[in-house]
Amino acid sequence: MTHGWRALAAVPFDRADSVAVRALVERAAGPTDTVVAWLVPRRRRAPREKLRAAPGLVQPPDSLEERIREEQALVTGVRHQAHDTPRLWGEPFVRPRSSAVRDRFGVARVFNGVLRSRHMGVDFAGRRGASVRAANRGVVALVADLYLSGTTVLIDHGAGLVTGYLHLSRVLVAVGDTVTRGQQIGEVGASGRVTGPHLHWLAAYGGITFDPLGLVGLDLDAAWTRSPKRARP
Ligand SMILES: [Zn+2]
Repeated sequence: MTHGWRALAAVPFDRADSVAVRALVERAAGPTDTVVAWLVPRRRRAPREKLRAAPGLVQPPDSLEERIREEQALVTGVRHQAHDTPRLWGEPFVRPRSSAVRDRFGVARVFNGVLRSRHMGVDFAGRRGASVRAANRGVVALVADLYLSGTTVLIDHGAGLVTGYLHLSRVLVAVGDTVTRGQQIGEVGASGRVTGPHLHWLAAYGGITFDPLGLVGLDLDAAWTRSPKRARP
Protein backbone atom coordinates (compact mmCIF):
# COMPACT_ATOMS: atom_id res chain seq x y z
CA MET A 1 0.00 0.00 0.00
CA THR A 2 1.31 3.42 -0.85
CA HIS A 3 0.80 6.07 1.71
CA GLY A 4 1.62 9.69 2.10
CA TRP A 5 0.50 12.96 3.56
CA ARG A 6 -1.54 15.80 2.22
CA ALA A 7 -1.09 19.32 3.44
CA LEU A 8 -2.70 22.65 2.76
CA ALA A 9 -0.74 25.81 2.13
CA ALA A 10 -1.36 29.09 0.37
CA VAL A 11 1.03 31.16 -1.72
CA PRO A 12 0.71 34.97 -1.73
CA PHE A 13 -0.44 36.49 -5.02
CA ASP A 14 2.70 38.57 -5.50
CA ARG A 15 5.07 35.74 -4.68
CA ALA A 16 8.44 34.96 -6.24
CA ASP A 17 8.73 32.27 -8.91
CA SER A 18 9.19 29.49 -6.39
CA VAL A 19 8.42 29.04 -2.73
CA ALA A 20 9.96 26.90 -0.02
CA VAL A 21 7.47 24.71 1.81
CA ARG A 22 8.55 23.45 5.20
CA ALA A 23 6.60 20.53 6.66
CA LEU A 24 7.07 19.16 10.15
CA VAL A 25 6.48 15.42 10.43
CA GLU A 26 5.77 14.36 13.99
CA ARG A 27 5.68 10.68 14.86
CA ALA A 28 4.11 9.07 17.90
CA ALA A 29 7.49 7.49 18.56
CA GLY A 30 10.80 8.54 17.12
CA PRO A 31 12.31 11.74 15.90
CA THR A 32 10.50 14.68 14.27
CA ASP A 33 11.52 15.33 10.69
CA THR A 34 11.50 18.60 8.82
CA VAL A 35 10.93 18.25 5.11
CA VAL A 36 11.60 21.21 2.85
CA ALA A 37 10.34 21.23 -0.71
CA TRP A 38 10.58 23.93 -3.35
CA LEU A 39 7.38 24.40 -5.29
CA VAL A 40 6.86 26.30 -8.50
CA PRO A 41 3.21 27.43 -8.52
CA ARG A 42 1.43 27.55 -11.82
CA ARG A 43 1.43 31.07 -13.26
CA ARG A 44 -1.99 32.57 -13.30
CA ARG A 45 -3.04 35.26 -15.65
CA ALA A 46 -5.29 37.81 -14.07
CA PRO A 47 -7.20 40.04 -16.44
CA ARG A 48 -7.29 43.80 -15.91
CA GLU A 49 -10.45 45.77 -15.52
CA LYS A 50 -10.28 49.47 -16.32
CA LEU A 51 -12.69 51.61 -14.36
CA ARG A 52 -13.31 55.31 -14.36
CA ALA A 53 -14.67 56.89 -11.23
CA ALA A 54 -14.63 60.16 -9.37
CA PRO A 55 -11.67 60.20 -6.91
CA GLY A 56 -14.07 60.45 -3.95
CA LEU A 57 -15.62 57.13 -4.87
CA VAL A 58 -12.29 55.36 -5.21
CA GLN A 59 -10.88 56.46 -1.87
CA PRO A 60 -13.22 56.25 1.13
CA PRO A 61 -13.33 59.52 3.08
CA ASP A 62 -10.76 59.99 5.90
CA SER A 63 -13.55 60.02 8.50
CA LEU A 64 -14.12 56.33 7.79
CA GLU A 65 -10.49 55.31 8.00
CA GLU A 66 -10.68 54.27 11.64
CA ARG A 67 -13.89 52.29 11.18
CA ILE A 68 -12.41 50.45 8.21
CA ARG A 69 -9.22 49.70 10.15
CA GLU A 70 -11.15 48.32 13.12
CA GLU A 71 -13.28 46.17 10.85
CA GLN A 72 -10.20 44.82 9.08
CA ALA A 73 -8.71 43.91 12.46
CA LEU A 74 -11.86 41.91 13.30
CA VAL A 75 -11.59 39.95 10.08
CA THR A 76 -7.83 39.44 10.48
CA GLY A 77 -8.41 38.06 13.98
CA VAL A 78 -10.83 35.43 12.68
CA ARG A 79 -8.42 34.46 9.92
CA HIS A 80 -5.52 33.87 12.30
CA GLN A 81 -7.72 32.08 14.83
CA ALA A 82 -8.50 29.44 12.19
CA HIS A 83 -4.96 28.09 12.53
CA ASP A 84 -5.82 27.11 16.13
CA THR A 85 -9.15 25.48 15.22
CA PRO A 86 -8.97 21.75 14.46
CA ARG A 87 -10.10 20.72 10.98
CA LEU A 88 -13.90 20.60 11.14
CA TRP A 89 -14.54 19.27 7.65
CA GLY A 90 -13.93 16.01 5.88
CA GLU A 91 -15.78 16.25 2.60
CA PRO A 92 -14.67 18.40 -0.35
CA PHE A 93 -15.78 22.06 -0.48
CA VAL A 94 -18.73 23.07 -2.65
CA ARG A 95 -19.67 26.37 -4.29
CA PRO A 96 -21.89 28.63 -2.20
CA ARG A 97 -24.11 29.21 -5.23
CA SER A 98 -24.69 27.23 -8.39
CA SER A 99 -25.07 30.42 -10.46
CA ALA A 100 -22.52 31.78 -12.93
CA VAL A 101 -19.25 33.34 -11.82
CA ARG A 102 -19.48 37.04 -12.66
CA ASP A 103 -16.02 38.18 -11.65
CA ARG A 104 -13.03 35.94 -11.13
CA PHE A 105 -10.26 36.04 -8.54
CA GLY A 106 -7.25 38.27 -9.02
CA VAL A 107 -8.71 40.66 -11.59
CA ALA A 108 -6.66 43.85 -11.43
CA ARG A 109 -8.81 46.90 -10.85
CA VAL A 110 -7.33 49.89 -12.57
CA PHE A 111 -9.12 53.06 -11.52
CA ASN A 112 -8.36 56.15 -13.58
CA GLY A 113 -5.14 54.53 -14.82
CA VAL A 114 -3.86 53.48 -11.37
CA LEU A 115 -3.78 49.87 -10.14
CA ARG A 116 -5.87 50.20 -7.00
CA SER A 117 -6.60 46.65 -5.99
CA ARG A 118 -7.11 43.12 -7.06
CA HIS A 119 -10.38 41.29 -6.82
CA MET A 120 -9.63 39.01 -3.88
CA GLY A 121 -12.58 36.69 -4.22
CA VAL A 122 -15.10 35.27 -6.66
CA ASP A 123 -18.38 36.98 -7.48
CA PHE A 124 -21.46 34.87 -8.11
CA ALA A 125 -24.51 36.24 -9.83
CA GLY A 126 -27.71 36.32 -7.82
CA ARG A 127 -30.82 38.30 -7.19
CA ARG A 128 -31.50 39.84 -3.82
CA GLY A 129 -32.89 37.05 -1.62
CA ALA A 130 -31.28 34.17 -3.53
CA SER A 131 -29.76 31.54 -1.27
CA VAL A 132 -26.15 31.46 -0.11
CA ARG A 133 -24.80 28.17 1.22
CA ALA A 134 -21.89 27.21 3.46
CA ALA A 135 -19.05 25.82 1.35
CA ASN A 136 -18.24 23.26 4.01
CA ARG A 137 -18.69 22.34 7.64
CA GLY A 138 -17.40 24.91 10.10
CA VAL A 139 -18.24 27.31 12.89
CA VAL A 140 -19.66 30.77 12.23
CA ALA A 141 -16.92 33.07 13.49
CA LEU A 142 -18.25 36.49 12.47
CA VAL A 143 -21.58 38.04 11.52
CA ALA A 144 -21.23 41.79 11.05
CA ASP A 145 -22.25 44.78 9.00
CA LEU A 146 -18.99 46.15 7.60
CA TYR A 147 -18.47 49.35 5.64
CA LEU A 148 -16.75 47.81 2.62
CA SER A 149 -18.13 44.27 2.53
CA GLY A 150 -21.59 44.96 3.91
CA THR A 151 -23.38 42.22 5.79
CA THR A 152 -20.69 39.59 6.12
CA VAL A 153 -20.49 36.02 7.43
CA LEU A 154 -17.14 34.35 8.08
CA ILE A 155 -16.97 30.59 8.65
CA ASP A 156 -13.96 29.08 10.42
CA HIS A 157 -13.47 25.60 8.92
CA GLY A 158 -10.36 24.92 10.97
CA ALA A 159 -6.92 23.86 9.77
CA GLY A 160 -6.33 27.52 8.90
CA LEU A 161 -9.23 27.82 6.45
CA VAL A 162 -11.86 30.56 6.50
CA THR A 163 -14.51 31.30 3.91
CA GLY A 164 -16.43 34.57 3.73
CA TYR A 165 -19.80 35.53 2.26
CA LEU A 166 -20.16 39.25 1.57
CA HIS A 167 -22.81 41.86 0.66
CA LEU A 168 -25.67 39.74 2.05
CA SER A 169 -29.21 41.04 2.53
CA ARG A 170 -30.07 38.56 5.26
CA VAL A 171 -28.19 36.23 7.60
CA LEU A 172 -29.72 32.98 8.87
CA VAL A 173 -26.94 31.95 11.29
CA ALA A 174 -25.31 33.36 14.41
CA VAL A 175 -21.76 33.43 15.74
CA GLY A 176 -20.92 30.07 17.33
CA ASP A 177 -23.30 28.03 15.16
CA THR A 178 -21.86 24.91 13.59
CA VAL A 179 -22.97 24.81 9.96
CA THR A 180 -22.96 21.84 7.64
CA ARG A 181 -21.76 21.72 4.07
CA GLY A 182 -24.44 23.18 1.79
CA GLN A 183 -26.53 24.61 4.64
CA GLN A 184 -28.22 27.90 3.73
CA ILE A 185 -26.57 30.65 5.78
CA GLY A 186 -28.00 33.78 4.19
CA GLU A 187 -29.38 35.58 1.17
CA VAL A 188 -27.72 37.50 -1.64
CA GLY A 189 -27.82 41.27 -1.28
CA ALA A 190 -26.10 44.51 -2.22
CA SER A 191 -24.92 45.70 1.21
CA GLY A 192 -21.58 47.48 1.54
CA ARG A 193 -19.77 49.24 -1.26
CA VAL A 194 -21.21 47.54 -4.32
CA THR A 195 -23.26 48.61 -7.29
CA GLY A 196 -25.70 45.72 -7.36
CA PRO A 197 -26.67 42.41 -5.74
CA HIS A 198 -24.20 39.55 -6.01
CA LEU A 199 -22.31 37.22 -3.69
CA HIS A 200 -18.62 37.90 -3.12
CA TRP A 201 -17.08 34.67 -1.87
CA LEU A 202 -13.66 34.75 -0.29
CA ALA A 203 -11.28 32.14 1.04
CA ALA A 204 -8.34 32.64 3.34
CA TYR A 205 -5.61 30.46 4.71
CA GLY A 206 -4.64 32.47 7.76
CA GLY A 207 -3.36 35.80 6.46
CA ILE A 208 -3.34 34.76 2.80
CA THR A 209 -6.39 35.29 0.60
CA PHE A 210 -6.64 32.79 -2.24
CA ASP A 211 -8.97 31.76 -5.04
CA PRO A 212 -11.88 29.97 -3.33
CA LEU A 213 -12.58 27.95 -6.47
CA GLY A 214 -9.28 26.19 -5.69
CA LEU A 215 -11.03 24.61 -2.70
CA VAL A 216 -13.93 23.14 -4.66
CA GLY A 217 -13.50 19.41 -5.01
CA LEU A 218 -10.32 19.38 -2.91
CA ASP A 219 -10.32 16.01 -1.16
CA LEU A 220 -7.71 15.71 1.56
CA ASP A 221 -8.98 12.31 2.66
CA ALA A 222 -9.06 10.63 -0.74
CA ALA A 223 -7.20 7.36 -1.02
CA TRP A 224 -3.74 7.54 -2.52
CA THR A 225 -4.63 5.22 -5.37
CA ARG A 226 -5.26 8.18 -7.69
CA SER A 227 -2.55 10.61 -8.61
CA PRO A 228 -3.01 13.77 -6.56
CA LYS A 229 -4.48 16.80 -8.26
CA ARG A 230 -2.12 19.51 -9.39
CA ALA A 231 -1.34 22.08 -6.73
CA ARG A 232 -3.13 25.34 -7.23
CA PRO A 233 -1.64 28.59 -6.08
ZN1 LIG B 1 -16.35 40.64 -5.44
